[in-house]
This record gives sequence, C-alpha cells and structure tokens, in this order.
Amino acid sequence: MSEATAHAAWVVLWAVVGSLIGSFGNVVVYRWPRGESVVRPRSRCPRCERVLSPLDLVPVLSWLVLRGRCRTCGSTISPRYPLVEAAMALGFGLLAWSFPIIDAGASAVPLMALFAMLLMAALIDLDTYLLPDGLTLGAAAVGLLGAFLYAPGFGLPTPGEALVGAAVGVGVLVLINRIGGLALRRFTDTKERLWPVSLDTVNAAALAGVVGGVWVALAVGALQIVASSVARRPLRLPEPLVYGLWLVALVFTVSGAGAAWGVDAAASIAGSVIGAGAFAFLGAVWWWVADWRSSEQRAPLEEAGPPGDDDGEPVAMGFGDVKLAAPLGAMLGWEAFLVGLLLAVLLGAVIGVAQRLAGGSRFVPFGPFMVVGAFLALAVAEPLLGWYLGLLGV
Ligand SMILES: [Zn+2]
Repeated sequence: MSEATAHAAWVVLWAVVGSLIGSFGNVVVYRWPRGESVVRPRSRCPRCERVLSPLDLVPVLSWLVLRGRCRTCGSTISPRYPLVEAAMALGFGLLAWSFPIIDAGASAVPLMALFAMLLMAALIDLDTYLLPDGLTLGAAAVGLLGAFLYAPGFGLPTPGEALVGAAVGVGVLVLINRIGGLALRRFTDTKERLWPVSLDTVNAAALAGVVGGVWVALAVGALQIVASSVARRPLRLPEPLVYGLWLVALVFTVSGAGAAWGVDAAASIAGSVIGAGAFAFLGAVWWWVADWRSSEQRAPLEEAGPPGDDDGEPVAMGFGDVKLAAPLGAMLGWEAFLVGLLLAVLLGAVIGVAQRLAGGSRFVPFGPFMVVGAFLALAVAEPLLGWYLGLLGV
C-alpha cells in the first residue's frame, strides 16, 4: 500500500468515526437542554415510540434509504440529523487530511474533540439560546490541554499561546459585554452583587491592566478576590466610574503618556484584555462548580440567562458567548482568534440581512457564528495574516 493510499484510508476512517459521533451528537443536542441522560434510554421515534434498530441508525445512509421517514409510522425525520452527521464526517475527514499522523502525530485528536463539542454547543445555542457550561468550559479544558499534543510547524498554538489565546478571547468578549451593557443601561450601574469572584473582579483587573499592564492586572484582580473573601461581601466600584476611568487611562497610555511609568499602548491594551479575560474565565469556572455543587438535580441550563442577563439587564453580548471564546482562543491563539471573531461578525451581518430580506424574524444567536468563524480561521488565518502583514511591509 502506497503512502498516499494509506493516508486516504486514514482520512476515510476518521470521516466514518466523525459520522458516528455526529449521530451521537444529535442525541446530545436534543437531550442535554432537557436535562436527560445522553446514554439512556435508546433512541425512539418521537411519534410511534418504536425503539430504533441499528439499521435505522446508520449515519446519513439510513435517512437517505428511508427517504426521511420513520420505517413504522411514516412520520418525517428532520433533514438536520443527516446534515449534522455529514458535517461531523466532513470536519473529522478534513482534520485527518490536514494533520496527517506521519508528520503531525496526534495533533488532529484534540481538534476533532473540539470540533465535535463546539458543533454540538452551536446547535444547542441555535435551538435554545443557551450554551451549556459543560460543553464550553469542557472544550476550553480540551483546548488548553490539547496544545501539549500539537506538533510544531502546523501553525497550532503552544500551551502558553493557548493560555494567552483563551485569556484574550474571553477578555475581548467580556469587555464588549461590560461596556456594551453599560451603554444599553444608559450608563447606570449593574445590579450584579456576587463575591468572591465576580464581574467586579473583572472590572478591577481591566482598569488596573490599562494603567499598569498584565502583571498589575493579575495582582489587583487577585487582591480584589482576597479582600472580598475577607470582607465576606462584594467589594465594588460602580461600573460607570470604572469604565470612565478606564477610558481616560486608555487615552493617556495610547497617546504615549504611559511611557513615563513604562506602559506603552500595546502593554496597556494587552494588560486590560488579558486581565479581564483571566478573571472572567476564573469566575466562569468558579460559578460553574459552585452551581453544580449546590444543585445537582436541576436541568443544566435552567438558571443560565438567555439572551439577556441573570438580572434581566440588557446585554450586548451574552455571557455564554464570553465563555465560548475560551476554547476558541485556546484552539487558535490570539491572532487567529481575532480573525475568527471578525469572520463571525461579517457572517452574522450577512446572514442577518439575508434573513431580514427573506422576511424572517427569529433571532439568530451569535454563538454559532463564532464557532463557524473560528474553524474558518483555523483554515485561513495563517495565509490571511501573512498576506496582510505583507501588505503592511512587516
Ligand atoms: Zn415512527
């Protein structure tokens, strides 16, 4: 068997594995938001309740052979099921093809796991406007640990770059979340009152970072957590004050005044974004564990707030999207993450306009666009950034 044949067989094998995971993914997407087990009971036809046999469950093919109808009662089966199976097969096949085991070792494995989890998360977001923490934060763990398996030379992040990518991703989105929300509330304060890790920690780190850079941001955020824990109550500055000072400090450092104490524009922006992102991610994990410990029985999505906030405050960016940025940033590193975010915004705008023209009114969440943008960026960010930097003559 030639090397090319072996590679082709390898790609086909992974495409088949992907289609089976797609079939399981359909079950997850249906059952997870309902708080049902994803392994039991076996799948049934929702109308006649006949338990589906293995012959009904062959990915894509069963649907085609049955022409989208239940074998027993003839009720229609949504074409979404075979489409998800086909998409998962295509994604796994492309990843196996792009990262051949001979050169790239196990690089494709974490990327396949990320693709599967993020596609499921995107579909659940489309259905319910919610992103389960188990999928977004679970995928963040896969993205951060998977970076230890990537072979060099494929443009994939090192573990350190994955960590910075996750912090930048979460940081950019949480700052949009806070500043956008502030504008929507007409510059009144938020009602949020949590401790020890909260949006107040994020705000403190964002402000400290813009003045003093990354390490100052991390130190001030940590101090805020310690002080809230000692005081046993939220220690907070009003958000209009924090982001007013933040803007003034940003203008100072970007204009070059920060050079007097050794902080240039880049250090200032990076400090604010990474500081805010690090504590938003820490808070997301903290409250996920705390919620999970306090009420194991309730449906996993019950208390998350769609698409507004927990307190019913208007938001520019849901907190589910903020958490979703963690695995995307970890997978891509910060430069490609920003390319993916830009693609997501463009895609969202195009689809939004197209939907409006077609007379649709259903609100399409941003999460699925972030996922699609990120995987497009995985494919195109490197040549695109190279071309752009070439234009600038860098
Ligand atoms: Zn049936």
